[in-house]
Amino acid sequence: MAPFEPAALPELLPLFYRRLFPHGPYGRWLGYGGVVKNYFQLREFSFTLRDDIYVRFQSFSSPQELERELQKLNPYKIDIGAVYSHRPQEKELVFDIDMTDYDDVRMCCSSADICSKCWTLMTIAVRIIDRALVEDLGVRHRLWVYSGRRGVHCWVCDDVVRKWSPALRAAAVEYLTLVKGGAETVKKVNLSEPIHPFIRRSVGVVEKYFEAYALVGQDILGSPESWEKVLALVPEEHREVLQDEFPKKRDSMQRWELLKGRMERTRRQGTAGKSAPCYADWEIMLQFCFPRLDINVSKGLGHLLKSPFSVHPKTGRISVPLDLQRLEQFDPFAVPTISSLCEELDAAGDDAEQEEGGELEPKRRARGRRAWRPTCGSLSSLWRRWNVHGEESCGGGVTCKETSEASLPPTALFLLRGHCWPQASWCLGTRRLQPNPSAPLNPFPPFGPFLHKKH
Ligand SMILES: [Zn+2]
Repeated sequence: MAPFEPAALPELLPLFYRRLFPHGPYGRWLGYGGVVKNYFQLREFSFTLRDDIYVRFQSFSSPQELERELQKLNPYKIDIGAVYSHRPQEKELVFDIDMTDYDDVRMCCSSADICSKCWTLMTIAVRIIDRALVEDLGVRHRLWVYSGRRGVHCWVCDDVVRKWSPALRAAAVEYLTLVKGGAETVKKVNLSEPIHPFIRRSVGVVEKYFEAYALVGQDILGSPESWEKVLALVPEEHREVLQDEFPKKRDSMQRWELLKGRMERTRRQGTAGKSAPCYADWEIMLQFCFPRLDINVSKGLGHLLKSPFSVHPKTGRISVPLDLQRLEQFDPFAVPTISSLCEELDAAGDDAEQEEGGELEPKRRARGRRAWRPTCGSLSSLWRRWNVHGEESCGGGVTCKETSEASLPPTALFLLRGHCWPQASWCLGTRRLQPNPSAPLNPFPPFGPFLHKKH
């Protein structure tokens, strides 16, 4: 992948907004199909321009006007705000999960750094929050997006939820919060019976990742120094025994088995046992892995959140939607940067010119005729056309005939798939555009053309 150089942004952004940014589906998403009058027009956008010039409270009469403005200003960053009349009235319920909030429980990285080891925390966060949103809060339309650097965002787009008051939003975040207390609090999760089903189910999610992530990857019981940090979360009556036994065990896995076994015994014995039922193993799992939400981002309607598909100005990576069916395979380091996209665009342009030269076999030339260039003029116009067909394609299994996917740069294809929910898949390198009939129906939020489909 072409390395990203922030200094190159002034040169790359015009190309990005002219030929790569999915203006069509983006406008359709934010217009919610025009069902509510002026929903798009009353939306706040905010731009970060060159030299950190920050412009808030921008609004546009149409997606086309926004497109023109984006192409004129070439913002380094786009944020999306509330839908206004006079005061902020409506907005998606949003969640911002940032890896920096996990610094006290990450052994591998700190602050803005992430690696494939700690990225599992984001996977767990999406799994826990998404399950709760659907099963506990009855939400249907969620759009999960990679932030472009070290976290994930969730846009809850349900009609009813967009009208929620700040108090309701705060209540939802409160419901979804288990890890409490700042840097000075040692024990941030405290459980007592009866255990709420949300906690039980969340522990069920964490359990699937805990061994590989915490015991092997982070090795949280690997040395006396690290296990002391864990044992600080265990009640005193159990701590001393474990402190004596831990050095005799071989690795984190064995030590965890010991700790877990002991806690499970207290729960099996119930009140008849010597000691009270203890959930220290669950508390440890949750303190180390449970998602940490920023309540201020979710609560206030006036709060901005970085827009899907915009470029992260520090890393150059695009905020791409996450496919929840392939979440475990998502690799933040494989997400295209604005540099790699523009490079591919150039390369694809060269190919098209070569094909026009007539030196390739007829089949490939026929494919070239259907290529995004010169047939469609630009990739963004292809995107617009493709989505019209893509809608049929995903709804009724009709394949887009206008688009020769082989003629598209692979990464553009990959971004296209971001629009083609729910069946099209997030996967770099495979070349399949047809809907997958075996995929479960619409596990994802409606986005772009799928917004008004019945599920
Ligand atoms: Zn890491």
